[in-house]
Amino acid sequence: MTAKPLSASHATSDEFHIRYQNRNLRSHSRIGWMLEKWIGIPLNLIETLISYLLVRPMNWALRHLDGLSYKLEGTRLKVILQHVLFPVIMIAGMFIGFAATDAGASLQSITTLALIPVVIGLIVAPLERLMPYSRNWLEGGNDTSVDLMMFISGAFWNGFAKYLIQTLFLVGLVEAMEAYGHGLWPSHWPALVQVFLFILIKDFFRYWLHRALHEVPFLWRFHAAHHSVKRLYWLNGIRSHPVEVVGQAVLFAVPYALLQPTAEVAMVAILMQLTIGIFQHANIDLKLGFWEYIFSIGDNHRYHHYPDKGVGDSNYGGEFILFDILFGTFHKVKGERPHDNIGIGTAPNYPMTMAGLYIAPFLPDQKIWAPENAEPTTDTDNPRNNLLADV
Ligand SMILES: [Zn+2]
Repeated sequence: MTAKPLSASHATSDEFHIRYQNRNLRSHSRIGWMLEKWIGIPLNLIETLISYLLVRPMNWALRHLDGLSYKLEGTRLKVILQHVLFPVIMIAGMFIGFAATDAGASLQSITTLALIPVVIGLIVAPLERLMPYSRNWLEGGNDTSVDLMMFISGAFWNGFAKYLIQTLFLVGLVEAMEAYGHGLWPSHWPALVQVFLFILIKDFFRYWLHRALHEVPFLWRFHAAHHSVKRLYWLNGIRSHPVEVVGQAVLFAVPYALLQPTAEVAMVAILMQLTIGIFQHANIDLKLGFWEYIFSIGDNHRYHHYPDKGVGDSNYGGEFILFDILFGTFHKVKGERPHDNIGIGTAPNYPMTMAGLYIAPFLPDQKIWAPENAEPTTDTDNPRNNLLADV
């Protein structure tokens, strides 16, 4: 099954102003349209600049790997790579994390954190081109430019959240915990065990937040920005609405404040989370085997992005898949290869510009559940759901 660009015939004629497919906010709301238009002027300009200066040259360079990619098909080398890439990169990430903290890198060092996705991208982007899960997902129009902008704006919103947290409650919470003498965190355990324990505790919070983002209609409005993507590739894990970014940062501050892991553990944990996050979305055709029963990666997350919420409301784990298995939301069909037709089934024309993504959740007539009302649906007879299912 292949993903085809949706044609403009899917539009209903009463929608306000349609310029290009999938690029502009589509709404009956005049205010929403005006906002998207005016906020969109500078943002679309930046998007175009990034596209011409960075994304197009990058895609041009990566296309040179296509010949090699076809040669790799069916070889023993590919099978070996499919099995070893994930564990090797995870282990390398761990070593780099511990070495970096030994060398004095810290979470406060913004340059360190900003460099990590660049380094991972330089490794993962060529791997996607060499052994893609879906060749339909190799290039995605304007999505990389928008994702890069969302990445930069996300850093701003995270900074804002940090300020908010410190002002609101973190200082008080930390002080209260210090009164108990840091007794909660097992700092005498091996560092690696501490790292995974910390990720697991954080993932418990992520699991319930992510589940709420899908199952509470008001919250789904905001999380829809992430699910609007039409392809999975290494960078689109960072496409999240600022409301989700800030909300999550505030929520995650609780385990940090309560547990207070060492700076080294927190640093390596973040590196591990980034690595797992990349493998969650990467368009690499890996044979993950039992890793898919431990981590929230590969096919698990491809099902999570299915256009039909009946399937997509599953596999919520941020890093581990344990809580999905425990709480009955794990979805995996043995022997099945998930199709590559992803998105929001009821809103195949969800805005794809940065301005559109920012504004869409606030529009009263946002059609992310069904065209005529805002009730959640998993109704597969709904013609909007089938728009994606039947291509
Ligand atoms: Zn989700």
